[in-house]
Amino acid sequence: MSDSTCLFCRIAEGEIPADVIRSDQDLLAFRDINPKAPTHILIIPRKHITSVADMEAGDAEIIGKLFLAAKELAREEGISGTGYRMVINAGEDGGQTVFHVHLHLLGGRPMGWPPG
Ligand code: AMP
Ligand code: ZN
Repeated sequence: MSDSTCLFCRIAEGEIPADVIRSDQDLLAFRDINPKAPTHILIIPRKHITSVADMEAGDAEIIGKLFLAAKELAREEGISGTGYRMVINAGEDGGQTVFHVHLHLLGGRPMGWPPG
């Protein structure tokens, strides 16, 4: 369930400080330490899932909850009207650097396409 060597598990356990803006029994949302946009929030499941590549059928509900939480946080951040981007990086080419599933919520400026 939790991996004591995982940075985001340790944040979820409160062992490493973070700017947490939402917390419930299933997920946690906190501000990215190195924001790439005026709003840059990470939403994670409390359950340790290494990557979307390792998701199982039983993870469908929690992954859905990440997106619903991100949508609500976008409204709370005041970026619903102007728009935003939700991103999950997977693996080396995807740019994943922390191996605990996380959904990036980015907004507050226009996003380029395609992403770099
Ligand atoms: P990714 O590259 O998709 O794996 O995203 C990892 C994200 O975690 C990056 O945007 C980092 O800036 C962010 N990050 C790394 N360490 C921390 C931390 N201690 N607190 C908050 N965000 C972090
Ligand atoms: Zn973890």
